[in-house]
Amino acid sequence: MTNPAATVLAVDVGGTSIKASVLDDAGQPLRTDVRRTPVDEGPDAVVAAVRRTALDLTDGAVVAAAVVVPGSVDVATGTATYSVNIGWHDVPLRDLVARDLGVPVAFGHDVGAAGLAERTLGAALGVTDSLVLVIGTGVAGVAVSGGALVQGATGLAGEIGHIPVHPGGERCACGQLGCLETYASAGALVRRYAARSGRDLAGADELLAILDTDDVAGAVWSEAVEALSIALTTYAMLFDPSVVVLGGGLADAGSCLVDGVREGVASMLVWRSTPQIVLSPLGRRAGQLGAGLQAWQLAGSDGFVNWPEPA
Ligand SMILES: [Zn+2]
Repeated sequence: MTNPAATVLAVDVGGTSIKASVLDDAGQPLRTDVRRTPVDEGPDAVVAAVRRTALDLTDGAVVAAAVVVPGSVDVATGTATYSVNIGWHDVPLRDLVARDLGVPVAFGHDVGAAGLAERTLGAALGVTDSLVLVIGTGVAGVAVSGGALVQGATGLAGEIGHIPVHPGGERCACGQLGCLETYASAGALVRRYAARSGRDLAGADELLAILDTDDVAGAVWSEAVEALSIALTTYAMLFDPSVVVLGGGLADAGSCLVDGVREGVASMLVWRSTPQIVLSPLGRRAGQLGAGLQAWQLAGSDGFVNWPEPA
């Protein structure tokens, strides 16, 4: 259907970095560009950086593109309506990038894209009751129940990051108290460590590197794992998933994360079995692969038709 040599552009805009790749029909990145998201320079600078990244990487040689962003989105109009981490309001990002590149552009939510990738290529493939939890700058999930994507009455289903895990707890950026995201996002780990130790870390990976030697880091990490376990126990009671996939940047913690959460959930669930809890096989690439799938669909293809089968 499409030219076998054709490629698509996938842009995953995060609160920390903008990750863009030109992907072939096997989902392999032929060119990649990762840039810091200039949130400190304001929303206009972020929009300009997204457009610049897309233009620099493609040089006009893709058949379609997709841009996925955090926060709330209006997929029908291609608008980034709001993001607490980026600070933008009502940016018609799809049309801006489409005009720059001169090709059709798909637009959506970054976590939704990661969920699509996990259901199409990853650990939630063929699973009728699953949760994909993306833990990065924030925490959000994609829930599938009885084979159907749960979207909710206003499209806000899956905002697991804002489940209050500690009533009356720490203030979240959203205004509520005690949200999961306030304890367990990558940003929360760094912020909470700095508040207690007086030392700034460059990122959550630095905290993970000192877990065994630094008591404050160990305590902050245990509290994050506990918060995740509380939220996932709640989810298990509500939706009875067979698989929970842990993805996003914090999944780089590997067994440290997944073993801790398995143990935490199992200790809270007394009378029922613990759902399978696994690390995302797609890792940080999930959002971008989901965007790539959307771009291929826009180009009239079924997606990554030559995606390598797992060994
Ligand atoms: Zn919140």
